[in-house]
Amino acid sequence: MPIIRWDREYVAKPAQTMTASSRTKKKAAAVKKLPKAAASPSQVEKKANLKAPKPAKVKKPSLEEPVTPLSSEEQEELVRLEDIIEKSNSEVGEKEGELSSAAWKITDALYQIQSQNLYRAVGKTFEKYSKDRFNYSLAHSKRLAEVGKIRAVGENPEHKAIVDLIKNESMARPLTKLSESELGKVYATLSQWVKWKEKQELSSQTIRAAIAYHADAPGPKASKLSTDVEAIRAEIKSLKGFIDKTNTKSADESFGVIEGVLSRLVDVKRSTGISWTEHTWNPIVGCTYVSEGCRNCYAAFQMGTLMAARHSDLVDRKSVDEGGRKVERYMFNGKIKLLPDKLDEPLRNTKPSKYFVNSLSDLFHKKVNDDFITTVFEMMEKAHWHTFQVLTKRPKAMAAFTQKYYEDRTPPSNIWLGTSAENQETFDERLPHLLETKTALRWLSMEPLLGSVEITSLEGLDWIVVGGESGSEARKMEAAWVRSIRDACEKEKVQFFFKQWGKFGEEGQELKGKATKAQPKVDGVPHNNWPVPTKADNVSPSAE
Ligand code: SF4
Repeated sequence: MPIIRWDREYVAKPAQTMTASSRTKKKAAAVKKLPKAAASPSQVEKKANLKAPKPAKVKKPSLEEPVTPLSSEEQEELVRLEDIIEKSNSEVGEKEGELSSAAWKITDALYQIQSQNLYRAVGKTFEKYSKDRFNYSLAHSKRLAEVGKIRAVGENPEHKAIVDLIKNESMARPLTKLSESELGKVYATLSQWVKWKEKQELSSQTIRAAIAYHADAPGPKASKLSTDVEAIRAEIKSLKGFIDKTNTKSADESFGVIEGVLSRLVDVKRSTGISWTEHTWNPIVGCTYVSEGCRNCYAAFQMGTLMAARHSDLVDRKSVDEGGRKVERYMFNGKIKLLPDKLDEPLRNTKPSKYFVNSLSDLFHKKVNDDFITTVFEMMEKAHWHTFQVLTKRPKAMAAFTQKYYEDRTPPSNIWLGTSAENQETFDERLPHLLETKTALRWLSMEPLLGSVEITSLEGLDWIVVGGESGSEARKMEAAWVRSIRDACEKEKVQFFFKQWGKFGEEGQELKGKATKAQPKVDGVPHNNWPVPTKADNVSPSAE
């Protein structure tokens, strides 16, 4: 018998070579050697409730050396903890992995036994002791003790509320991989993030995102596609240099056409249906209408239809007057939901990509607090191998935020900040704020373009995207409006991207069938120009 047990007193098993009589003598000696001054109950209590007990370095019992016998207070503590486990075992619910209060008691007690090395008396590993004593499988006992550890660290009153929200083992598991100091940081982050949520609850996704927020970024992986495309781009650039020497004008035209083809090639892989980006990232949902460009807001339509199961509370169905006609529409009602669970989404994608930030909301909506915006910016910086395209109809708030956020440093090149302008009024009102925005790259989205815009200067801008409105209630975009913006861009050397005509084509005709999918052109020329820096500039040396 490895465990010598009399009246629930444990004594270490001595060296294997002992005879029965010497073992009895040794046992008696060990009991005699117990310290006289036993710990008071309060001391025992204190020991059991250490804020963050560090697992003791367990010295495995060797066949040569006898292990240190348990002191009387240790025996007392072990008996107490074993009693808790036995009692709680009978109270644990049926639901697998559920962390009921009985299950927590078991994990806590097992962690105490493990961290205080109380199982040493049996001369076995902790896992073997748990198997023999409580019939837990070897792996299970280890996992349970690990879960106990995350609670022990969470005994800090600041963190207790968070630990209480951990409802099952799968939520607890990722936390068990962290050191005590990492755990403390993650708990502090979760305390803040839970307050941002609509319901004060935790999910595995929130925990995963908070861990990712503190962990080192996984880093980019250069994809074969983007590597190939970059290589072809480099070749075309050298070709351009060669052609330049002979016939500059035709070379420029050829280069523009080839570049357009290549851009489309990259966009073949896009998953958003938006030709100037590859992914959307929505850590916020919900919005409020600010101007005419919002009238047929596609995000609101999505909330009322495709995403209704989760977000129908963000929109109201309203009957609006549309030139004498009554039209039913989903309209945002001003409610906003912050979704911290989504914050780590770009970090999980290691392929350098373009992300449109908040296609279903506006990052600078007045209900989005600065702490949340800061966290979004931190995540964008952390995922430095991606390009983030932020677009707002509230550039005044963006300018104020960035001036503070980048007060003493240069904004990174992978975050492009832009505003939307659909007509002269919004252009005049928003452009000055965009120009006050601190960013590595400023861009303007003129989609849906609803009127002509007289442009006197584009100084300070890097990129303009133009597009017409689509959908059954779309308003017509005149070709002349597009041409004048294109010409201004060419004149001022601002990159011009023509996204789509929308419901009506260049001649004002309604587009149907194949025509809606055709490459959009202005005067027979596609315009898919990208600003610098491109995403290739943001791939870290480690990816090369
Ligand atoms: S700002 Fe954007 S998301 Fe918000 S209502 Fe307007 S179009 Fe929709």
